[in-house]
Amino acid sequence: MRALVCNGPGDFRFEDRPVPTPGAGEVLVRPLFNGICFTDKHVYDGHIGRKPGWVLGHEFSGRVEALGSDVSECNVGDLVSVDPRLRCGECLPCRAGLETLCTKAGFMGVDGGDGGLAEFAVVPAYSLYRLPEKCSPLEAACVEAACCATRATRSGNVVVGDNVVLLGLEDYNLYMAQWLKSQGAVVIGVDPLEIRRRAALDFGAHHAFDPTEGKASARIRALMPFGADVVVVALEDYIPQANEYVALAHRIARIQGKVIMMRSYGSAPFLKVQPNHAWLKELTIHHFGNFFGNEPARGGRARGDWQVTLDAMARGTLSAPPPGALVKPFSSLAGKADIDALFGAMPGQASKVIIDMSV
Ligand SMILES: [Zn+2]
Ligand SMILES: [Zn+2]
Repeated sequence: MRALVCNGPGDFRFEDRPVPTPGAGEVLVRPLFNGICFTDKHVYDGHIGRKPGWVLGHEFSGRVEALGSDVSECNVGDLVSVDPRLRCGECLPCRAGLETLCTKAGFMGVDGGDGGLAEFAVVPAYSLYRLPEKCSPLEAACVEAACCATRATRSGNVVVGDNVVLLGLEDYNLYMAQWLKSQGAVVIGVDPLEIRRRAALDFGAHHAFDPTEGKASARIRALMPFGADVVVVALEDYIPQANEYVALAHRIARIQGKVIMMRSYGSAPFLKVQPNHAWLKELTIHHFGNFFGNEPARGGRARGDWQVTLDAMARGTLSAPPPGALVKPFSSLAGKADIDALFGAMPGQASKVIIDMSV
């Protein structure tokens, strides 16, 4: 089978590999769509991922092709969305039923084993969610990213009618705009890239502006004179303006407001923060780096962030991928130049990149 393999920084290659065989508790899946994100780009640039030789792809949907022994969660032919988080089953969070907080196992396609950018993939049966009837495989490949917004909204207690500023309109914050639309929030999106600002407006933001044009804090204050109830920060080291986002969030949050850190890279943006702002304003700072959870007290997997996201897609509350996404056939990718072009498209030319594995 054809697979996109990471052999080290800047060295992703298409290789022929044997079709894997599912073992006990595992399932053979034929991937249908794979999302590419900045995590893959960080792997490509050598910032994360330390085990060369694995198949990439951690945002994927597929169809079940074969079952290993001891699998009762799904049937051959099922359309599924794959949660890439692996679990060891032995660490304290795993034993407490908080498997998505596993401290050992990692992500398939990133640092924990083979992912979905191949004609076939073997995945643990526990990683599969069957698609609700009205959720398409293309949407289901976007659940991994959309889940981060689901988690930040649910666990960050963003409430009806909040004034919210989204700093950095990568895909997480674009899905955030959609959730907030359904909650009656007033939303300002901030990003230097026009394709993302357009996507945010399409997804329900009321205002979107470029932080390089005029003073961002003054423009936000003009629309939200008391400051923002909630500021959601998506830091990206591929966007130079993101260096200013944490400090800006602390300045524009209202007294006793919230700052939600939904994506975070590097220390430079934090060195610009004036600590007095958080202290004197009594800001609450939330961090959501666990991406998605299945907290038992909330109902576990059946009411976890992944399932809630899939159901929202099936109902039409969330649509995916964002406007301005680039969808490329897997068969059209052949060598390094194609891979460079894929990563080169983000963030400037595409709001998101998706690989269609069926063609
Ligand atoms: Zn990702
Ligand atoms: Zn564990």
